[in-house]
Amino acid sequence: MPEGDSLYKFARRVGAALEGKEVLAARSHGPGPVPQVHRIVGATCTGARSTGKNLLISFDNGLVLRGHLRMYGTWHVYAPGEAWRKPEREARLVLEVADAVVVNFSAPVIELLEERALGHHRPVAGLGPDLLEDDFDVDEALRRLRDPSRATLTIGDAIMDQTAVAGVGNIWKHESLFHVGMNPWRRVRELPDDELRGLVLKAQALLRASVGKPNSLGLTRRTEMWVYERAGQPCRRCYTRIRSGSQGVDIRQTAWCPKCQPVVEGQIDPPVRKRHARLA
Ligand SMILES: [Zn+2]
Repeated sequence: MPEGDSLYKFARRVGAALEGKEVLAARSHGPGPVPQVHRIVGATCTGARSTGKNLLISFDNGLVLRGHLRMYGTWHVYAPGEAWRKPEREARLVLEVADAVVVNFSAPVIELLEERALGHHRPVAGLGPDLLEDDFDVDEALRRLRDPSRATLTIGDAIMDQTAVAGVGNIWKHESLFHVGMNPWRRVRELPDDELRGLVLKAQALLRASVGKPNSLGLTRRTEMWVYERAGQPCRRCYTRIRSGSQGVDIRQTAWCPKCQPVVEGQIDPPVRKRHARLA
């Protein structure tokens, strides 16, 4: 699933292709509700930006397109006449300007809204502070994570709640927890403020590094993965075997290093992987 940093990069590319240009043609296809994109033909794009995992493309007639990719969606930018790298039947949205074609493939959400209504549009207005915003408000993110409704969530689940803090998906959940040495099964209410703040700031630094923004880690690019999709392999730091277990309402696989991210007294025990009976 694309996370905040991927959406930021998509916004940069889509914005570079469209900003300041008149939309010459627009079409949209199902499945699902189809936005009335004829309303932006003739309008000029005023920019594209990401917020959390949403991409917003604005136009000078007061309309804005919102796309959310969920698991499989993606944005491509082509030159006119260039062959697409995905089948046309998967295109959900096509925007043409004089020198570029922007195509969205497979996004389950593409909708056209009034820009002035965004502030009341729950998928956008309900987001927590965005980790990639330059004026990211860490105190507000912590306040939201501390909401009583999240007290009993495990931190591996809570840090991906976009209404608390926007931008972290499954990859950066894994990596930021590893980098602060936090076991994913600790509950939010059990975490001291300094540890919770440290985790959020680490996630911010990793996301910023991924998009080439200055960050507290001094990284200049996306780092290698330490635990994400490395279950069963040796930890790159201590050579302990990386474990994994199902976590959260989505029952996602979460991987962690049992030595670098130790269990803390009083926390929930991480699941023990049952050995599958071998077929003779
Ligand atoms: Zn380790």
